[in-house]
Amino acid sequence: MDEKLQTRCVIAGGGPAGIMAGYLFARAGVPVIVLEKHADFFRDFRGDTIHPSTLELMYELGLLDEFLKQSHQEVRELRAVVNGQAVPIANFKKLPTHCKFIAFMPQWDFLNFLSTHAKEFPSFRLLMQHEVVDLLFEHQRTVGVRVKTPGGELEIHADLIIGADGRHSIVQAHAGLERQEFGVAIDVLWMHLSKKQDDPQQTLGFFQGGKLLVLLDRGEYWQCGFVIPKGGFDAIKARGLQQLHNDIVGFAGFLRNRAAELDDWSKIKLLTVQINRLRHWCCEGLLCIGDSAHAMSPAGGVGINLAIQDAVATANLLAGKLRTGPVSLDDLRKVQARREWPTRLIQAMQVFVHRHVVTGQTSQRKDSLPLVVRLLKWFPVLRQLPARFIGIGPRPEHFRSPNTV
Ligand SMILES: Cc1cc2nc3c(=O)[nH]c(=O)nc-3n(C[C@H](O)[C@H](O)[C@H](O)COP(=O)(O)OP(=O)(O)OC[C@H]3O[C@@H](n4cnc5c(N)ncnc54)[C@H](O)[C@@H]3O)c2cc1C
Repeated sequence: MDEKLQTRCVIAGGGPAGIMAGYLFARAGVPVIVLEKHADFFRDFRGDTIHPSTLELMYELGLLDEFLKQSHQEVRELRAVVNGQAVPIANFKKLPTHCKFIAFMPQWDFLNFLSTHAKEFPSFRLLMQHEVVDLLFEHQRTVGVRVKTPGGELEIHADLIIGADGRHSIVQAHAGLERQEFGVAIDVLWMHLSKKQDDPQQTLGFFQGGKLLVLLDRGEYWQCGFVIPKGGFDAIKARGLQQLHNDIVGFAGFLRNRAAELDDWSKIKLLTVQINRLRHWCCEGLLCIGDSAHAMSPAGGVGINLAIQDAVATANLLAGKLRTGPVSLDDLRKVQARREWPTRLIQAMQVFVHRHVVTGQTSQRKDSLPLVVRLLKWFPVLRQLPARFIGIGPRPEHFRSPNTV
């Protein structure tokens, strides 16, 4: 049965951008509904890296101590094995933040934590299994969303619609916002392998002759990301599972006794990697943030943190006004003006990493270290640059939105 709801702000997508924006609007007293199409946050293709910039925001919110009680691993230095040589990449120990480490925490724990706290605010509503399927327009202005729910369709009208629905954003597509694509030459195969007690300490990346295997420690198992050439999955399948096992063992010999756990292609998921950006992040009544405005590659593990920075800037710039009425297109443009250049800079870094480190396009010899990696190895002080760029990022945001609770 069709039903109608009215609120001040409706957010499509309960990912890092959507939940953080919902939390901050509710904290500022803005009635907000966050719509998430899935029944829970449990999806293991999501990134798990909570960077010092996000941990600093948790500190500013007064949530850090409780947050760090959740199960997580702390990584103070990023190391990689490049063409067989162990190289340090980034050292977070000197960052001017309370936490000088990256916290590895399953994203579903992070989202559950934040949404549980958001629910303490009376103006916050999170509706799971609510999928935005269309936008509602009146006189060229977006005024609401049409939502598919287990009980039928629902219309939600709002002064502001936020698209935080990720890389395949329906909000962005239905609003007709133009997207610029930046070619990415890689995709990722995502799979699990069991973990044994005598496994080496977590190593983040094994680079070898233009190939890359990433291992993330999930406590009881390894989450493995195997970077392949874009569109290359069919060729990998044609070579057979045994060859894939050999590839994995070639990177990380200690996985020899369990690569065979991958005994069916259904255990291996293909994730396509994109880098793109909207030319305009907003139109009358609507704003896109996070991956919906700019899809990020996994390089640097910065996507979640950038999405959260967008959410903070959005609340800082809009919450005060939105509490009492609609916001103008000029107000929405201020969010893009604030967040666009940090996004451009990070995406440029990701394109650089794809080209010079991951695919080895500029490396002459497959057994040599790319110049940028050699510099990091020779000059330890340089490791503070990637640490700052990855850990804090350009133009870090701090809470300025009102706290009415
Ligand atoms: C293979 C891979 C690995 C990555 N690893 C990392 C990493 O380790 N660290 C990192 O920081 N970043 C990583 N990233 C990037 C990161 O995942 C994204 O940048 C980040 O998740 C963006 O957050 P978001 O909230 O904007 O979007 P998302 O996290 O994509 O969240 C969007 C949410 O919207 C929901 N949704 C979608 N459509 C609708 C709809 N129509 N109605 C309602 N809900 C909807 C989705 O279910 C989802 O919950 C990785 C990306 C890839 C491709």
